[in-house]
Order: sequence, then C-alpha cells, then structure tokens
Amino acid sequence: MSIKERIKIIKQQISPCALIAVSKTHPALAVKEAHEAGQIDFGENRVQELLDKQAQLPNDIHWHLIGSLQTNKVKFIAPFVYMIHSVDSIKLLEKINMEAAKNNRKINCLMQIYIASEETKHGFDKEEILDFFNTEQFKNFEHITFCGLMGMATNTDDTTQVANEFKNLNHLFNTIKNNHHLPNFKELSMWMSSDYEIAIEQGATMVRIGSSIFGSRS
Ligand SMILES: *Cc1c(COP(=O)(O)O)cnc(C)c1O
Repeated sequence: MSIKERIKIIKQQISPCALIAVSKTHPALAVKEAHEAGQIDFGENRVQELLDKQAQLPNDIHWHLIGSLQTNKVKFIAPFVYMIHSVDSIKLLEKINMEAAKNNRKINCLMQIYIASEETKHGFDKEEILDFFNTEQFKNFEHITFCGLMGMATNTDDTTQVANEFKNLNHLFNTIKNNHHLPNFKELSMWMSSDYEIAIEQGATMVRIGSSIFGSRS
C-alpha cells in the first residue's frame, strides 16, 4: 500500500481526531508524498532532522516538535515551528517564550504531563501543572499559546492501565480548561505503543502515528 493510501485510511479511522504524521528517520521524499495526499501536520523528534526537512519542503507544512527539546536548540525552530508538544519544564517554557518574542510571534505549546509508571518519561506531574495554572504563572508567558496537554502512556500491553492513564490526563485537561480563561486550550495529544483506539476513546484530539504510515524505522 502507498503512503497516500495509508494516510487516507488512517484519517478515516481516527476522524475527527487530527493526525500528526511522524516522519522521523524517513526521507523528505516520503513527507512530500504524504503532503501530496493532503497531510499538513508532521511530527519530528529531533531538531536537526526537522530543520533539514523544513528547508526542502513546502511552506504550508505545520511542523510539530514531539520529542524532548533542549533549551539551546529552541532558537533554531522558533522562527517557524507550528507546535511544540513536549514542554516538560518551566525553564524550557521560558526559553521558548524568549525565542518566540525575538521572532515576533506566539508559539503553540502543549504541556507534557507525566502519566506513565516508568521512570524514564519526562513531564510535569499533576500537582506541578495545577499549581502553574492556579497561581496564574501562565500569564507571564505572552509569547506562548497554551493549546493543551500531551501525555505518553506506559509501554505495556495492559490496555486497562493505558486507558486509566489517559483518563487521568483527560480529567486534568478538563480541570485546567474549566478553571481558567485559556481560549486555545483545546488539544489533548496522546501516545501509546499499541493501539491508538484507546487514545481516541479517552478523548485525544491529536494522535501521532509514524510507522503505520511510513513503514518501520531501521
Ligand atoms: C516516534 C514517535 C511517535 C510515533 O511512533 P510510531 O510507533 O512510529 O507510530 C509518536 N510520538 C513520539 C514522541 C515519537 O517519538
């Protein structure tokens, strides 16, 4: 099956959830093919690779940074990045805000929430993020558009556990949304190693899919 056909089928399966096509490790040519099938949103997890592809591909593409981001690399993507899914510290948020200001723009950000039971995943815990919004610290970030939350479930076959992790994330999302005036706070970006159906059932508005579109990574 071609990339175009896969995109079409996956879009139907996940509708009305948005598809972020994760093109990491795949060549610009593959992105071009997906773009010709009408795909606008692409996700990359490494800054250098994102820059290389952005330089070669059409300007109407929305580039999403989905992997952990080092503060010293923010400046490279700040002029054009569409959304950063992986804001996992206040320090990073401050840097994004500063670089966005230099570029005279606002950058769409998702706050990454630590929902998994593994030690290795990044992000804010529930208390930290509630504190950030309740103390109105978010108002200091004039060049950030707070678009929602991102969470990565535990890498496990236990679908009940994954569903519960997403349920907690959704609850947190609604608590923040209902208690603060955040007009663009609409997105829940979820990822799990197995079936994305669980994410959609639990209220994801965006899913990030790579291998099912572009094939496996070497
Ligand atoms: C690679 C990656 C994905 C997509 O994973 P696939 O298994 O290829 O669908 C999603 N989110 C992040 C953060 C990734 O790094």
